[in-house]
Amino acid sequence: MSDYTAAPATKMLATNCVVCGRPLVDARSVEMGIGPECRESAKGGIDDGTRQVANEYVYDAAIAAQEGRIEDVMRHAQTIEDMGLKGLADKIRRRFRKASEREADITIEVEGAYYKVKTPFRRGDKEAFIAAWRRIPGRRYRNRLNYIPVAQKTVLWALLREFFGGKYGRGPKGLFRIPKPEPKPEQMTFEQRAEAAGQNPGNLAEYEMAQREMAQA
Ligand SMILES: [Zn+2]
Repeated sequence: MSDYTAAPATKMLATNCVVCGRPLVDARSVEMGIGPECRESAKGGIDDGTRQVANEYVYDAAIAAQEGRIEDVMRHAQTIEDMGLKGLADKIRRRFRKASEREADITIEVEGAYYKVKTPFRRGDKEAFIAAWRRIPGRRYRNRLNYIPVAQKTVLWALLREFFGGKYGRGPKGLFRIPKPEPKPEQMTFEQRAEAAGQNPGNLAEYEMAQREMAQA
């Protein structure tokens, strides 16, 4: 669950409305993960305290959505329903039902000390693709499947991002979406963007808020 007392410098911004998927533009919406229209239509008969907590789950669901953690989105939707906002939960689920039911392009299973990884063959840069697998220390290849030592998780993830960015996978924790190799600026945390821009995180946060407000005016 997100912590609203955390410094805004470390809080990630939501890029798209968790209900309708449209890009979020105003400062309040990027902090909440839901746009003004969907917020309005999601009003229900719950008390302010419950609303406050529900808002945090909406935000978490929006961040999970943009990071491709579909199972987490569904889990947050269930919590939102349990808090008395069934209409809102159903709308969130509707947007992701297709993704959560689709076949994963990539499957990862744990087998002893290895990940058993099944991917489609990457056409185009065939040699780079094969070389990338071969570079992973301890990798084995059997029955058209790659076996990667669990200790090489980070290397495996980098390979998947390089060759399968945007595709869906199913792993031990459920369905996930592999992010594109280069994160878009709006998907980075304030700290990452501040670093990229050579600025102090606090200054950058203020600067970006001001820009959004100007864009709205
Ligand atoms: Zn919306």
